Amino acid sequence: MRKLITALLTVVLFIWSCEPNENVPQTVEFNPTLKDKLTRVDPSSVENRNGRTAGIEQWIASVNETIASQGLAIQKMEFLGAEQAGNTVFFANTGNKQLSSDFVPNDPRNGTGIDVPYVIDGTELGTSSGMSEFETYSATVAAMETWGNVTCSSGLEIPNLGVASFDIGYVQYLLGFGGIAGYFPGTVVHGGILPGAFFDAVSPGGASSILGVTFTFVWLDDLDADGKSDVAIKEIYINDVFNWQDAPDDVLGNGIYDLETVILHEAGHALSQAHFGKAFASGNGKLHFAPAALMNAGYSVARRNISGTDNAGHCSNWSNWPNN
Ligand SMILES: [Zn+2]
Repeated sequence: MRKLITALLTVVLFIWSCEPNENVPQTVEFNPTLKDKLTRVDPSSVENRNGRTAGIEQWIASVNETIASQGLAIQKMEFLGAEQAGNTVFFANTGNKQLSSDFVPNDPRNGTGIDVPYVIDGTELGTSSGMSEFETYSATVAAMETWGNVTCSSGLEIPNLGVASFDIGYVQYLLGFGGIAGYFPGTVVHGGILPGAFFDAVSPGGASSILGVTFTFVWLDDLDADGKSDVAIKEIYINDVFNWQDAPDDVLGNGIYDLETVILHEAGHALSQAHFGKAFASGNGKLHFAPAALMNAGYSVARRNISGTDNAGHCSNWSNWPNN
């Protein structure tokens, strides 16, 4: 008997010791089933893109008129600034007109139960600054795992649904920059690393000032009647214009931006956190924030951990989940 147990243990240990190298992928692997999770939209039913002449508020207002038939509205976009403070733009015509929004556990319109899953666009990975597709994919997964590992929100699971082999992103589609006529309900969509033109389109001068943006779609009906809009979709886009690097020790002023930090910031918005902290210019003309935090509206240094006000903000949103 003892020999048998020893033999079994040896086999188990052997398999275990072999596992890391064989199971940790070193390339991006697509999930072929993601198309099944997409809620498709008849392209002829939505006004999209081409020939925008109005400002972004009017543009999104007209988009919202066409997606109202799906029960959806784009509620807001939150920008992270490179050398200046970013901001938050709210759009009119979002149902109950509440400026705040949050996920509703077991929302049947989302069909994601008490999870907040995420997907990654596999067609818009990699940066012009030289980060490989696998590096930007890994930064995205690492950022989501960082939020998933915050201890106060033990009831919140943030599963990775995988990488799409097709160009995903409903905002992208609606604004005429690729994407797809469809969306992943209840899901955080990492919609891609996009050219500066997309950021110029969503904000004047955006290509040179916005590092990343998170769009919030809400359902027009406040199902849980808590006075807050119910989140339907979150979509994150990163601006390819900047010098992105895998730079965990990055500090302000060298022209480099740590990609994982910015994805972590945008994912904070996806998990319902707003901007935090007061912006001020110091003697050297650089922008600073007090208190310094990941959720400041501007980039200052690489931050890959959740602490202080970022942790407090997250816990206030999620510590009771899914019992809120
Ligand atoms: Zn932000």
